[in-house]
Formats: sequence, structure tokens, C-alpha cells
Amino acid sequence: MVIHQSNWIDGQEAPPTATTIPVINPATEQSLATINATSSEAVNEIITASWKTFHSGVWSKKDPSDRFTVLSKASTLLRSRINEFIALETAQTGRPIREMRTQLARVPEWLDYFASLARVHEGRVTPFKGAVTNTLTRIPLGVVVLITPYNHPLLIAMKKIAAALAAGNVVIVKPSELAPLSVLKLGALFKEAGLPDGVLQIVSGYGRETGKYLCEQPNISKIDLTGGIATYRAIAPVAAMNMVPVTAELGGKAPVCLFPSMDVETAVKAALFAGFIASGQTCVTGSRLLVHQDIYDTFKTLLEKRVRALRVGAPTDEKTQIGSVISAAAIERCESFVSRATAEGGTILCGGTKLHPTPSGKGFFFAPTIIETHSASDLANNEVFGPVLALIKCADEDEIIRVANGTAYALGASVWSNDFTQAHRVADRIEAGIVWINGHHLNDPSSPWGGFKESGLGKENGVEAYEGYTKVKSTVMNYGVKPVWFDDEVVDARYG
Ligand code: NAD
Repeated sequence: MVIHQSNWIDGQEAPPTATTIPVINPATEQSLATINATSSEAVNEIITASWKTFHSGVWSKKDPSDRFTVLSKASTLLRSRINEFIALETAQTGRPIREMRTQLARVPEWLDYFASLARVHEGRVTPFKGAVTNTLTRIPLGVVVLITPYNHPLLIAMKKIAAALAAGNVVIVKPSELAPLSVLKLGALFKEAGLPDGVLQIVSGYGRETGKYLCEQPNISKIDLTGGIATYRAIAPVAAMNMVPVTAELGGKAPVCLFPSMDVETAVKAALFAGFIASGQTCVTGSRLLVHQDIYDTFKTLLEKRVRALRVGAPTDEKTQIGSVISAAAIERCESFVSRATAEGGTILCGGTKLHPTPSGKGFFFAPTIIETHSASDLANNEVFGPVLALIKCADEDEIIRVANGTAYALGASVWSNDFTQAHRVADRIEAGIVWINGHHLNDPSSPWGGFKESGLGKENGVEAYEGYTKVKSTVMNYGVKPVWFDDEVVDARYG
């Protein structure tokens, strides 16, 4: 029987809506659940209730040490139920269970980190001229709207929820309609941890409807979006008119820069890891392999062999390395990139087609694909968000850097070199929000995450994310012996 997973509003499950949205398992095409299609009237009511909760001070005025206690308890509860979340996340995304196990084991760390940050974060006193102190305090923004994508549903939602709650906000989160189930389950968990009712509101629906209604609200305090640039462009104009700040974690076209000092075996492993985690459906997928000519031929031969040997199959199988992509539309997107790449003179080394690797013949699987191409091609410049990688031969270090910096995106990049002088020299010259040296995909709650150029605005993770969920207030006190008044002969320099 297909269950209905409803919205979580004001500390309880909301009634199901008349119209619902089906959620399917992309690896089997079977129904998993239905969710609410939240209307604009319901969104208005949720916003009104959320402001009431914010102004009640039940969370916004809570002592940071109390917020620490609640978020730490939520972390403990999440750890104790992690297997349930792993199974759900695997079913709704089609990602291999071995990847989900690794990723989800770390998600509670975001709660630990931001709980601790709330507890230890200190204000500042600025060097104000004269007998004056200015005490800066950080206060929560208000009601914040978080819009999250289908890939890494729990991780990305938790990155934002943990920071926003730690800072004292009321949070409304709208997960992707394609993979909303793990996030919808968080409401009950946070309630059990002691979060007051109404502080975390979880609202499902289509982006172009419910997401849009939420983002058009004039009286919200921030929008934090992870998604595509088209979604940012739909949201940004109305947010700008409403003076609502937007943090945007958008797409990428991460270069994997491979230098000859790295042995070829390691370089190939790096490329597979960077490019094929989550079937290439991550914003930092290493989707451009920029290979120095001195190792190019041996690299290409070994890469092709290793890609052909990757195990594509049911995500629930412990041996599977490549699961499904999210939908039939994602398959079509991969196919259209492959056909444009070949039309532009690219050579398919392996893959390039959809697959049916499971006995049922169902599911949205695309073969891990490598296409040898040039830096000006469509494939080398635009985000596929699937397992289709561009392989590009580069003459030297300068060319690798030029190609790496040559797209509209600037989110993640990796540099693989055993010459550390070279690795740092290249890292310095790469334009990206995150540059890994001899690594890729490395992520930690303490490590700011976010792109430059069309990859985004603002940061997740770290002190930056926490502070991004606050506003700064100056409390200025004159402690001079003599106040200065309007009718004094000389106006005191302390007055601005
Ligand atoms: P998407 O933009 O289609 O959807 C993201 C969210 O926005 C969903 O919840 C969706 O319902 C909602 N949405 C869609 N249209 C909307 C609108 N008009 N108003 C308000 N909300 C709307 O993205 P996706 O396909 O779920 O995710 C893939 C994209 O996300 C890729 O471009 C990927 O690179 C990016 N991404 C970025 C990061 C990062 O950290 N920078 C991380 C993960 C994914």
C-alpha cells in the first residue's frame, strides 16, 4: 500500500490535500508514497503561523545553550535511526546504498556543529572612537524559507536547517517533490528532541507552485535555495523587489585537473570518484577531466577499461557502484548531451546509452559515459547532472588552468599533483568556491561551501552560514563623563 506522507506544520502532521503528488523509486519505477501539493492559501496560513511562533520568542529568544541541548538531542535521535533514513534515501534517489550509508552517517555532524556554534559563538565590541562602546549582537532573521533539491535530500536540507535553527529562526523547508520523504520525516524527530511546535515547518509541493508561493511572500526574512540557475532566476526578481536576501547554491561544471606527477592509476581512481558518485548528480561532479598530455594516452586507455567495469545495478545491492538517475527526464537530458557532443565532433569512449540492468527491466539507468571532446563544446561547458563526463587533453599547466576557468560556473575544482608547489600554484589560480588538492567531494560542517560566478551566492557550512542566518545589531553606549549636547560650542568627534 502506498502511504501518504503529509506536511509537518505546527508540531503535527497536516491533513492530506485533495490533490497529491506521487513519489516514485527511480530504480524500480514503483510508487513509494504520495505527498501534499500545498496551495497558496495554505502557504499564507503557514507564514502567518510561523511569524506568530517567531514573535512568541519560544525559540528566537531561547538561550543559545538551550538551543544547543535541543539540536544535540536531535543529532542523537538521528544517529539512532540512521538506518531507516538510509533505506528511505536509497529508495527515493536510486543512489547505491553503500554511498547513502557513508553520506548519512555524517549528517548528524551538521547538528553537532551548529549546536556547538550557537553555544560558543561570541559577539564583538568594536574599536569605537572615544568613551563609547559598541556591542555587536547577532539576532535571528525571522521566518526563513529553505528550498532544497532532489540530490542529497537529507544532507542539503540538514546543512541549512541546522544553521538556521541554531541561529534562532523559524524555518520553513520545502524539499524537492522528487525526493521529499526523508525531510518530511524530520518534523517528528525534532519534536521528540524538544523543538517547540511551529519552529520547523515542512511543506511539500511542486517548485513552480508551492516553492513559488513561498518565495513570493513579501514578509519572509531569507530564501536559501539549492537548485538550478533557472530556479534562482525565477526566484530572484521577486525576492529583490521584496528586499528578501537570497543564498543560492547552484550548479557546477567541476574540473578535475590531472598532472603527470600523479601516477596514472591514482589519476583514474580520482576521475571515477569525482565523476560518478551519485551517477554524476552532484553539484560538484568532476564532469570535466582535464588531463596533461604527458599522461593522456595511458590515462585514457585505463580510464575506459575501468569505466566499462563499473557495476551498474539495483541501488539496494551492496555491490552496486552506479545506481539510477532520478527520472525519465534525466535520462533524456543525458541522451541529448551525448547526441550534441557527437554532433560537435566528440568521440564516445564508453557508455552513451540508457541501460536496463535489473531483472524487472524498469528504472532510469544511464551507462557511465566518457566522451573525448574539446573545451569549447557544449558538453565541456554545461551541466549534465548525470554520468556523462568530458575528457579533454591539455598541453600544459597554463592550458589546464585556462580551461578550468573557462565556464560560467565556479563551484568545485580538484587538482591532482604530487608536486605540491605546482598543486598550490594551480589552486591559487583556479576560480572556484572550493578547490580540493588531491581530493574531491570533501565536505565538513566547518568548511564553507558555495560557488562563485553562476554557481551561487553566499555560503553553506561554517561560521559564514551561521552568521548568514543572523542580522547584526549595534548597541552603542556613551560612557564618557560629559555628555555632549546640541547647544555645546564644539560638536564632539564621537557623533556621526
Ligand atoms: P531545481 O532547481 O529543479 O529544484 C530545486 C528546488 O527548487 C526544488 O525543491 C524545486 O521544487 C524548487 N523549485 C523549482 N522551481 C521553483 C520556483 N519557480 N520557485 C521556487 N522553487 C522552485 O533543482 P534540482 O533538479 O532539484 O537539483 C539539481 C540542481 O541543483 C543542479 O543544478 C545542481 O547543481 C544544483 N545543486 C547545487 C548544490 C550546491 O551546493 N551548489 C547542491 C546540490 C544541487
